[in-house]
Amino acid sequence: MSLLDELNEPQRQACLVTDGPVLVLAGAGSGKTRTLTYRIAHQIQSCGVHPGQILAFTFTNKAAREMKNRISALVGPDSRFMWIGTFHSVAVRILRENIRHLGYDDRFVVYDTDDSKALLKDIVRELNWDDKEWPPSLFQNAISRAKNRFQSPAQWDDPSFFGERVGEVYRRYQKRLKDLNALDFDDLIFQTVSLLETRQEVRDHYQRRFRHVLVDEYQDTNLAQYQMVRHLVGPEGNICAVGDDDQSIYGWRGADMRNILEFQRDFPGAQIVRLEENYRSTQVILDAANAVVKHNHERLGKELWTRKGEGDQIRLYRAPDEESEAWYAAEVIHEAVRRGRRLSDCAILYRTNAQSRAFEMAMARAGITYRLVGGKRFYERKEVKDVLAYLRVVFNPSDDMSLLRVINYPRRGIGDVAQRRLREFAQEQNLSLAEALQQADAVEGLSAQARRASQDMAELLGRFRGQEGESLADRVRHIAEASGIMMQLRQERTREADDRLENIGELISEAKRFEDEQGTPDLGEFLGWVSLVSDWDETDEDGGGVWLMTVHSAKGLEFPLVIVGGLEEGVFPHARSMDEGTVEEERRLMYVAVTRAEEELYLTNAETRTMLGRTTANPASRFIKEIPESLISRGQRLAAPDRATGAASHRVEGLELGQKVRHPRFGWGTIVALRGEGDDTEVTIAFPGGGVRSFLAKFAQLTREETGLSGA
Ligand code: ATP
Ligand code: MG
Repeated sequence: MSLLDELNEPQRQACLVTDGPVLVLAGAGSGKTRTLTYRIAHQIQSCGVHPGQILAFTFTNKAAREMKNRISALVGPDSRFMWIGTFHSVAVRILRENIRHLGYDDRFVVYDTDDSKALLKDIVRELNWDDKEWPPSLFQNAISRAKNRFQSPAQWDDPSFFGERVGEVYRRYQKRLKDLNALDFDDLIFQTVSLLETRQEVRDHYQRRFRHVLVDEYQDTNLAQYQMVRHLVGPEGNICAVGDDDQSIYGWRGADMRNILEFQRDFPGAQIVRLEENYRSTQVILDAANAVVKHNHERLGKELWTRKGEGDQIRLYRAPDEESEAWYAAEVIHEAVRRGRRLSDCAILYRTNAQSRAFEMAMARAGITYRLVGGKRFYERKEVKDVLAYLRVVFNPSDDMSLLRVINYPRRGIGDVAQRRLREFAQEQNLSLAEALQQADAVEGLSAQARRASQDMAELLGRFRGQEGESLADRVRHIAEASGIMMQLRQERTREADDRLENIGELISEAKRFEDEQGTPDLGEFLGWVSLVSDWDETDEDGGGVWLMTVHSAKGLEFPLVIVGGLEEGVFPHARSMDEGTVEEERRLMYVAVTRAEEELYLTNAETRTMLGRTTANPASRFIKEIPESLISRGQRLAAPDRATGAASHRVEGLELGQKVRHPRFGWGTIVALRGEGDDTEVTIAFPGGGVRSFLAKFAQLTREETGLSGA
């Protein structure tokens, strides 16, 4: 039996055309990635191609690892000679071998975004410009765009006031990088392309070496990556690219769908293969995906079908608010597990990272293990920790660690030397660092500037402490503003900074919810409660857990059960897309989200959502309306505990304060608090040596000492 028997006819055809360019253009789940993988295995096994002659690009490192494993399972250990990786990782390998031609040393280092931002900041300072007015990220973006257009500093020409400044910084930045023997992310591709362009012997070497070049997710390559591919493909034109114009979701990062549309022009004689059978999803899910993406105008147009049968209807649930939405997700997963699904069969997808908080919280309280992909857990995100550090210092003046964090961000003129002096002084006098700030006048060896800055800081903290009468959300908002954290982020004017601002907004909303629910604006209680939630670090890399990720991170993946949250106007589609006229890209993102599901698809949204501490009512997403009614059934809360009415379907019987109970993961403990009623009963348990944790009783699977029966 041949490998290719495991493919359908057009997939096989894409593998059998071994000479010349091939483009597989097909919808989600039609086996593009599988075809690419089998094509490589087939060439090695049956066409006398050595693994060392294979170069394949994937979109993520994880995808590269999976493809390698797959192929080595098919053809054995020789497969280690293949080059399979992301554009960046392949670029690093090529540069290590050749960068001396460009005047760098081959032990160059790669600067990540933070490194390069720090360098830019230094340059701005060197130029004596105000870095508030000229934040480094402004230059970072402009320089990144220039590099993606192949504009070197010498070619930079923008005579506007801003353009000239960018040019100045760009020149200095490139020079410094070279002196440091460092390359930033964009340089990796940029320098590889200029190397291949200018050095014929290098180009010939790789073209001879890699007889076959393959690219997955071709629709998301940008111009620079595309140039890299073009230079690596030899005169034989052995390139196989697979992609789906309907899944192009990185336009904002410069991905250019034209690459896919112009493939035939760039690689003459290209064979186009179309795949129409989908092996992933039920017909209902496919019909929904097709119906949504049909509303786009910029597309080639294709339909998918499946033999998997109709399948279940899509479940739509409109929650009263985002907390209930997340609860619903926990209930759906809980119920699916009861039916025999594994946690790792389930994924929750959302549009923006800030949305993860509610889902993380619901999972933690329901005792459901989860894995967050491609992002940090909410309470581990830098900006959230920055604001929390302020709150901690305000609440507890002797928390020196938090104070050190806030002294350093945003910077306020207390440098390293001054910090050392202040700490020494605090130690000698047996004071907290905050007290040392107050007494900066008495600290020896402080510059006048550092002294003033210390006093300003002490005053600021004092002011924050004096706001006890205000609502918690207002306090958090005020601190995030007056500390300069929000201002700093606003000035950056980047997507990343916008995301960070959204996360801070989410923390403010969380403070409001805490106060509404717990009936107290007490900062200490809020912090204690936050640390309980953030303490939930049940990530189990192998053992599984529900997947939480943005739709962007879910590209190429598949799950038996998928929940897509936040389907509201302004959230998904994102408000920004309406301003910028990129709703079609949002719709493709919706297409990606829907087509991740194999069997069960749940779409959820909230009637009201608290963003930045303000509660708004968003209409349902237009994408929901684009799905024919016949495919949808309205979801119900499974156990229907409507928090607004307090109605509960069943009670958690027999839990009492002081009782000994056993939790399946943490073992025996004592109930130290019970809050709420019925399905909303939250039980707090102290574990000997294991800390104190709160759970939603109905999910906690507690067993009681005497009976051995489940408490829920
Ligand atoms: P996406 O656009 O989401 O990246 P894709 O086109 O790359 O999707 P794959 O991930 O390769 O699709 O395939 C989807 C699923 O269908 C996988 O589980 C794959 O193993 C399965 N599949 C694809 N082709 C076949 C086939 N001929 N026979 C059996 N299963 C198949
Ligand atoms: Mg794929």
